[in-house]
Amino acid sequence: MVSLNELDRNELLFALPLELRQKLAVRMEPISLADGEIFREVGERSSEIVFPLTCIVSMDYVLKDSFSAEFLIVGREGAIGFESLFDQRPGPVRMVALQGGNALRINRDEMRRRFFEEQAIQESVFQYTYSQIRLMAQTVTCNCRHRLEQRMCRWILSVQDRSPSRVIKITHEMMSHFLGVRREAVTNAAGRLQRDGMVEYSRGCLTVLNRDLLESEACECYQEGLDALNLRKHNLQYGYRGCEKSAPEVSCWNRSANSSKDH
Ligand SMILES: [Zn+2]
Repeated sequence: MVSLNELDRNELLFALPLELRQKLAVRMEPISLADGEIFREVGERSSEIVFPLTCIVSMDYVLKDSFSAEFLIVGREGAIGFESLFDQRPGPVRMVALQGGNALRINRDEMRRRFFEEQAIQESVFQYTYSQIRLMAQTVTCNCRHRLEQRMCRWILSVQDRSPSRVIKITHEMMSHFLGVRREAVTNAAGRLQRDGMVEYSRGCLTVLNRDLLESEACECYQEGLDALNLRKHNLQYGYRGCEKSAPEVSCWNRSANSSKDH
């Protein structure tokens, strides 16, 4: 069981009626994910639904030759594992904690039972699933059309919107996996963003220096992504800006330690 205050830190759960949130809180269990931790590996079945509170999870499609690319980022605006409510067949998807933090989990069978009982959950699942489909379609098109620098700006903004900190703990190696491009290309693009004063990168920590510049450089997909998830409505944009006191301490990754976590 978790407290209602804890449960309400997830935007999807917070949008449900109070009585239903109280019922769900009894069935929820807190978990924490470390930076870079693989939450679900390719081929594993989903047995739980996870609602991020402070962690951010990257969902990556993995090909047989191990090439992978991110198709969704999920933070406290959403949930992981909703697809298992429809079908539990395992797929070529890896879920990685892009940024470590806390989350709540509930057994998939319990959530499925609630899904059939509660119209509010059905509406929430339908809306969020639609948003995810829209975002995945956008990601496919964006990857084909927009320049790497534009996509990198979009990615940085999307991560920061879900983060308690303006510092993103990430290596170029990991970013190359998420963006589906060579590491050298990431290094060159990140160097350009740094020279233009948008970000600062040092020892596995990417710090956002100028959000307005990042937004002006990002492709249209960033703003479209906000609309797809109704993030403007929920005021998730800018993450925890203005309440930094609640932000967890940020510790930069050690490059050598991180290399063993790269996938
Ligand atoms: Zn784009």
